[in-house]
Amino acid sequence: MLTGKEYLESIRDGRKVYIGKELIEDITTHPAFAKGAETIAMIYDRKVAPENRDVMVSEEDGEEFSTYFLKPKTRADIERRYETHRRIASWTHGFMGRSPDNFPSYLTGLATQPELFNEILDGAGDRLDAYYRKARREDLFMSHAVTNPQGSRRAGAEIDAADVISPTLRVVSEDDEGVTINGLKMIGTGAIYCHETWVGNLQPVPPGNEAETITCAVPLNYEGVSIWSRKSYEAMANSEFDMPLSARYDETDAAILFENVKVPWDRVFLHNNVAMTREIYFRTPGHSLANHQANVRFVEKLRLIVAIAHKLTDSNKAGAIPAVQSTLGNLAAQLATLESMVRGQIYDCEDMPNGYVTINRRFMYAALHWCTNNHSKICDIVRELMGGGPIQMPADSSVMEDPELNKKFETYWSLPDQSAKERMKLFRLAWDILGTEFAGRHMLYEKFYAGPSFIMDLYSYQLAGWDKLDSVVDDLMAGYDL
Ligand SMILES: Cc1cc2nc3c(=O)[nH]c(=O)nc-3n(C[C@H](O)[C@H](O)[C@H](O)COP(=O)(O)OP(=O)(O)OC[C@H]3O[C@@H](n4cnc5c(N)ncnc54)[C@H](O)[C@@H]3O)c2cc1C
Repeated sequence: MLTGKEYLESIRDGRKVYIGKELIEDITTHPAFAKGAETIAMIYDRKVAPENRDVMVSEEDGEEFSTYFLKPKTRADIERRYETHRRIASWTHGFMGRSPDNFPSYLTGLATQPELFNEILDGAGDRLDAYYRKARREDLFMSHAVTNPQGSRRAGAEIDAADVISPTLRVVSEDDEGVTINGLKMIGTGAIYCHETWVGNLQPVPPGNEAETITCAVPLNYEGVSIWSRKSYEAMANSEFDMPLSARYDETDAAILFENVKVPWDRVFLHNNVAMTREIYFRTPGHSLANHQANVRFVEKLRLIVAIAHKLTDSNKAGAIPAVQSTLGNLAAQLATLESMVRGQIYDCEDMPNGYVTINRRFMYAALHWCTNNHSKICDIVRELMGGGPIQMPADSSVMEDPELNKKFETYWSLPDQSAKERMKLFRLAWDILGTEFAGRHMLYEKFYAGPSFIMDLYSYQLAGWDKLDSVVDDLMAGYDL
């Protein structure tokens, strides 16, 4: 298993990362990405530290691996996976959504049913099993880009007939060695820090666009792969004091461009199959195990948001007012609601094929729905509890470097029980959760990372168990008549 130092070494691999027009030589030392890379290295180190090993490291046939690669067979296995996710999320307060335990949860779920992949494409299940073992053995950090560029909904025949380049990734040729892929995939959250990315489709692909259904795993330093980063919030953070989360927990998002990238067959798991390209995540525990991680991660973030609300109202003295206590009670109840939704997923876990289990999917999708729909609302409540506090502070902490200004700052901005510096530190943290560009990206992330909100409704619609619900009404009505 990788140490943090080995992880950092392993991503100095010649990958092409662009930020604007700048091609980054070494992401582990560049001011846009260095601290984020250190945060991932911290996760690699901590998960194997003596106090975490018993939970976060598992073993099979004498081989040790991170518990997020554990294929769960019992509720105890699910508990063990949960506690692994919880600890990792707590180390970044839930601000790194695609932490190293996210995609392996997909892969582990998919790999519980190699026979499904063998039925779809000759030998694909065996290749998937081998890839799962490789990822587990090498402790790989993987992103997944399973969304297509916005607005590019061109029919495959149209692209072939006009001989134009499609923005959406598709197979452009294949031979005995493998396939050649060309086009964009969205959004590689964390990809800048990952070893490899999974390419596939969580959006349906229409018939006629078979070439877009390709599902494969690609190392991010392959010839022809380039990673186009959005703006770096880490680079915008003038100091940790002023923007503590932007400075350390910017997990990055990027479009990944594949220009005639040759992918060998041993990395191809599905090809030319519109019916199954999306289905594989739902027929296996792939989607449920990965989104359970997302739920667990969200609880840690919500815990910080609710705690910040309490600290802010303590600081601005509004916390003694009954109406404000009622708002705080409401937030505390929301935190407890979500925590219990996550615990319920484990308690009522479900049987899956081949003797495996997964978390309760109905409860998981309900929690996903809850998070998607409530994150912005909760943030708005906490932002209101702050009043105008953050804007009453000087522009940044450099004011404290000047002895003369610092004296005035401590004289006029302090409270009897709080120094001006303490107040500013709290407001800066709160603003990074609720007001900075980093915070704005998190509003978007929580709304979209698992798909748009109408898809959240559909998941719960599909799993509602309408027959059973209908029978409640039928049985009731059967008990009386004219
Ligand atoms: C910060 C962030 C991180 C992400 N990370 C990842 C990642 O790691 N991997 C990955 O694969 N993807 C990732 N995504 C992409 C995410 O999966 C998509 O953004 C999401 O599926 C929505 O697709 P879209 O952005 O193309 O929006 P569009 O599909 O273009 O939708 C635009 C708007 O139209 C609405 N809309 C569209 N169709 C309908 C309809 N039929 N009915 C009602 N409303 C509709 C949508 O709700 C939305 O509000 C990430 C997104 C964000 C914002």
